Amino acid sequence: MRFLTSGYSADVDSVLNNALFTVDYNEMVIVKDIDFYSLCEHHLLPFFGRCHVAYIPQGRVLGLSKIPRLVEIFARRLQIQERLTNQIAETLREKIQPLGVAVVMEANHLCMAMRGVEKQNSVAVTSAMLGVFREDARTRSEFLELIRMPGIGDRVPREVLQGAACAE
Ligand SMILES: [Zn+2]
Repeated sequence: MRFLTSGYSADVDSVLNNALFTVDYNEMVIVKDIDFYSLCEHHLLPFFGRCHVAYIPQGRVLGLSKIPRLVEIFARRLQIQERLTNQIAETLREKIQPLGVAVVMEANHLCMAMRGVEKQNSVAVTSAMLGVFREDARTRSEFLELIRMPGIGDRVPREVLQGAACAE
């Protein structure tokens, strides 16, 4: 359990600060299919799946390997998927001040599969869209296309967010 919640004691700054680079690049950076494993804070049961992260830099980029590391820091806590998604996006916004950040997470929740009646195979999808990803539909759909989740753009963000938490 200590290992599964080790994200509480991880220091985001010490993980990220030596990997920030100044560059003249302002195209979308995407890291997709990041595996993650977390624990729901209501039932202490695992939820796990894949996370897709994108940002559009504004003179500053983060070493690519740091993005999965960031996902891990927040996943190894007692979580709800919505908060996890937002924490990753907000931290990226704060640390690299990009033009925009997008995070999509898709996960299977064992508390839904083990406790629910008709939800054994359902996948919860959450997203956080900041900056240009929120304001510009073309940027957002380019991202969603690149992570190959066509159709999800229509549901982003609120209806999907509301359905994901295992709040019962
Ligand atoms: Zn749960």
